[in-house]
Amino acid sequence: MEKTPTPTHCPYCALQCGMNITPLPQGGVEVTERADFPVNRGALCGKGRTAAEVLSPAVRLTTPLVREGGRLVEADWPEALDRIAGRLAAIRERHGPDSLGVFGGGGLTNEKAYALGKFARVVLGTSQIDYNGRFCMSSAAAAGTKAFGLDRGLPFPLEDVPRTGCVILVGSNLAETMPPSLRFFTELRENGGTLIVVDPRRTRTAEQADLHLAPRPGTDLALALGLLHLVVAEGRTDEAYIRERTTGWEEARAAAMAHWPEYVERITGVPVPRLREAVRMFCEPEAAMVLTARGPEQQSKGTDTVGAWINLCLATGRAGRPLSGYGCLTGQGNGQGGREHGQKADQLPGYRKLDDPAARRHVAGVWGVDPDSLPGPGRSAYELLDALGTDVRALLLMGSNPVVSAPRAAHVEERLRSLDFLAVADVVLSETAELADVVLPVTQWAEETGTTTSLEGRVLLRRRAVAPPPGVHSDLYVLHELAGRLGVEKGFPTDPEEVFGELRRASAGGPADYSGITYRRLAEENGVFWPCPEEPAGATVVAGGDGTQVALSEGPAASDTSTSVRHPGTPRLFLDRFATPDGRARFVAVAHRATAEEPDAEYPLLLTTGRVVSQYQSGAQTRRVAELNAAAPGPFVELHPRLAARLGAAEGDPLAVVSRRGRAVAPARITDTIRPDTVFMPFHWPGEGRANTLTNPALDPTSRMPEFKSCAVRVERVEAV
Ligand code: SF4
Repeated sequence: MEKTPTPTHCPYCALQCGMNITPLPQGGVEVTERADFPVNRGALCGKGRTAAEVLSPAVRLTTPLVREGGRLVEADWPEALDRIAGRLAAIRERHGPDSLGVFGGGGLTNEKAYALGKFARVVLGTSQIDYNGRFCMSSAAAAGTKAFGLDRGLPFPLEDVPRTGCVILVGSNLAETMPPSLRFFTELRENGGTLIVVDPRRTRTAEQADLHLAPRPGTDLALALGLLHLVVAEGRTDEAYIRERTTGWEEARAAAMAHWPEYVERITGVPVPRLREAVRMFCEPEAAMVLTARGPEQQSKGTDTVGAWINLCLATGRAGRPLSGYGCLTGQGNGQGGREHGQKADQLPGYRKLDDPAARRHVAGVWGVDPDSLPGPGRSAYELLDALGTDVRALLLMGSNPVVSAPRAAHVEERLRSLDFLAVADVVLSETAELADVVLPVTQWAEETGTTTSLEGRVLLRRRAVAPPPGVHSDLYVLHELAGRLGVEKGFPTDPEEVFGELRRASAGGPADYSGITYRRLAEENGVFWPCPEEPAGATVVAGGDGTQVALSEGPAASDTSTSVRHPGTPRLFLDRFATPDGRARFVAVAHRATAEEPDAEYPLLLTTGRVVSQYQSGAQTRRVAELNAAAPGPFVELHPRLAARLGAAEGDPLAVVSRRGRAVAPARITDTIRPDTVFMPFHWPGEGRANTLTNPALDPTSRMPEFKSCAVRVERVEAV
């Protein structure tokens, strides 16, 4: 009998493309087009199209592993779980709760992220929890919160992009990272709008632009200040908007006016006429947007850099207006939800602050614990990894592969090796799992139900379509079993819908309010935008997603509660007011500063890192997919022909890229799409071509984001080393 396809979403990036999956008689699933999801309308990139391959037992873990005599050997679940619980308890007994670390991932579902944060704080009692999303968009989150009082990646749906007048896309190569999203920008141009791309490389995305600005890596902050200077000098500010909807303009204006266009040209390398052209293109239409991604965010001044781009939006009246605004293109599959539900060092579920007494009381009430028993904020991701083997003696890690993805990766690998105990739950035997004392094989997207929150703030339901292989359990099962072994018998259900029900209560009243969202609604409505509070019984009128008042028909039961109406969710934020106490957006006065590591005689070039279309993040999954691996089999060093000529390097020659932290070797890829003072390496691979061996862990003072996008290097032909 033919099986009905199950509608679900891609396991990879934050676009969360809709797809159908159908179990195959021989095992595994088939991925097919699903046209009813408005973000991708059936389109999938190669990663999504081949996602079923990672379900194959041939490439994934199906048995727990424990370390014996220095080797990982197969074990059964009770033995593996006993070992983890026993070691965590013993280390906590000896060194205290903060000797236990927990590291999560932006690919974990909302339910898992929520349960992991609760497990760390309630069962282990540790403050030492953070996740790899810190390496992703934390600077944009910090800047958005400062300016608007709330961080939601995009405060409007992607469907608004084709209807605006101009988009400045800063540091995003979405033609490679999330290809189906490119159509929104193509439609923008077809509708008469313009696209400006800011990127040191002429990427496949920049090729689509009406104007490409190619600043030196790490100078996007100066670039934004230069544009704002010109906006003011040319009288293009929206004074009424500034007066009515913002605060802090005078200080921000003064800071921008100190950045003369000629000065900005010297810093960035972008000629003044191109700056003027960008200002004209951005200011002339009725509506415009700035969208940032990892380029400006992964810097040790990432928060200020994003703040400068937000200032540009505010000065021109572009935020909180229809078809206008600032947004961040979050990268990881659940990068948005992953930062909202408690696995971040300083956050509680619902995007509440861990050091807010009212937030602690609310969440502790849901968890049934004393608010004073909850630990305070812990270390950020890199600081936590750097502390391994010192006061943090054991680590439980879920859904992350920092041996490849963390900055200064050789040092991080050494810190992981120095632990007294490392437990990893993952789908595959990642490079980090290879170092573990215990490895647990866990379920993945098509084998489990759960929710994610896309880069638009749209909460989505991923559905289970196929049973996992024997011997594989969910992360929720892992936490349930470990909690029980550590003396907490209740509060860690294995049913994701039950966990989501608790998450709804924990998030109620918080900035990211999910209380009006249910699995049933997600299935019926193809996703719901947060905030979506639960309406009180008897309500008949609620606030609409665009800030208008919308009368709702009674219709079918709104939720699995007695509520008779549904809050419609909030596709568009800030149209009436920002989420600050006075409802106004806040300018933040920022000034240019150099990157943490400028080139010098010994390291005369800049390295910037990024992604290629056929690999995802640390590559732990995509490197195991034959088609993707064939398309992108290994790292490379992209360099300009002039630099190649200076080195005497030809296409494909092995080159050593050397920074103060180490050396990586990869073949040369010579192209004039990169600046002559810059080299580029994708970061998806381990081993001698690992780009993150080189990257600088200098941290942004606010977001604690490392400086992935810029560090000083030299390049040598390998035979010369
Ligand atoms: Fe999956 Fe992202 Fe590709 Fe869509 S763009 S198919 S979500 S990896």
